[in-house]
Amino acid sequence: MDPEEYEQIFGYLSDKRYPNDIKESEKRRIRKMSYKFVIEGSDLFYLEKDKLSDNMVKRLVITKDKLSTVLKMCHISSGHQGINKTVNRINERYYWKGIVENTRKFVKQCEICQETKQKGKNYSSRIKFCFHWPKSLGKNRN
Ligand SMILES: [Zn+2]
Repeated sequence: MDPEEYEQIFGYLSDKRYPNDIKESEKRRIRKMSYKFVIEGSDLFYLEKDKLSDNMVKRLVITKDKLSTVLKMCHISSGHQGINKTVNRINERYYWKGIVENTRKFVKQCEICQETKQKGKNYSSRIKFCFHWPKSLGKNRN
């Protein structure tokens, strides 16, 4: 999340404070936006209803400066298993706008993933070869 937006929501929720010199329409926007968030301790959380259990779930709001740290952590803990697994892992606990987009970029740049992908390609082409080989052997016998 944009640090400015974070400040606005945090300020409003903690003591109904707005940034100086802003228009009434801006205040309305902040109020509307803040509705989905809650402060606990000194952290901001995003509130959302869980589709499966119908319970409200809280996800920690991540600002731009912490984004790469969280991405890295979730990607590694997901076992370098592509974009979807990493996104799921992030969605369990964290919130910001554009998670999928950021994860896609991050995974593309991950050296370990690129290396594994390369190995995977070689491996599957080898399997294909083994698979076709006995077939042609059978043909030769007939
Ligand atoms: Zn990776």
